[in-house]
Amino acid sequence: MRLVLLGPPGVGKGTQGRRLATDRGWALISTGDMLRDAVARQTPLGKQAKQLMDAGQLVPDDVMVGLVRERTQEADALGGFVLDGFPRTVPQADALGAMLAERSLELNMAVLLAAPDEELVRRLSSRWECPECRRVYNSLSAPAKDGRHCDDHPATELRQRADDTEATVRKRLQVYRDNTAPLIEYYRKQHLLKEVQGIGALDEVYGSLNAAVAG
Ligand code: AMP
Repeated sequence: MRLVLLGPPGVGKGTQGRRLATDRGWALISTGDMLRDAVARQTPLGKQAKQLMDAGQLVPDDVMVGLVRERTQEADALGGFVLDGFPRTVPQADALGAMLAERSLELNMAVLLAAPDEELVRRLSSRWECPECRRVYNSLSAPAKDGRHCDDHPATELRQRADDTEATVRKRLQVYRDNTAPLIEYYRKQHLLKEVQGIGALDEVYGSLNAAVAG
């Protein structure tokens, strides 16, 4: 199964996508995580991406398409993958379709996770992540056991993402509306779109996501 998770920043694509990919034995391909790794390692890509990411803007399409083209051909992705954070523009979606077609493959589904803006801003400003394993916590709804360290890496302090400040979050929501939301119609027209409510308890949302993927 090759699946795209669509939805605004903070809706839970990473958390839900990780669980879905793990349960089904598919690769989770998060372009945001790939970029944050490149920034941490200070690679040329990381240096190019950092300023754009900190400002809540998009990294150029050709760069992102190149990254995804390579990543989707790695061994763990051959049995299926969940894309989190890609495509984010119509040209990226076109490129994804074309790269799969070149390999005689196709995208099976695009699942839209939805939630109101105020909920997204609230969630993102209380979001913390483990720099080691990228597990995401929420200081309000899903805190770490001791409030400061990753449950799975007790020596590692949780940190907030540089782009999770309220001003940057609002910019990212705007960028989502302008550039990414048109993909909802794009995939609906291709009869690939399923919609899942991203609000509610984590397990409840996951249940709806699972049902959408199975159905
Ligand atoms: P995310 O973790 O998906 O919220 O992504 C964090 C940031 O990385 C975004 O705000 C963008 O600056 C950049 N980014 C991630 N994926 C993409 C993409 N497919 N196209 C352009 N920029 C991206």
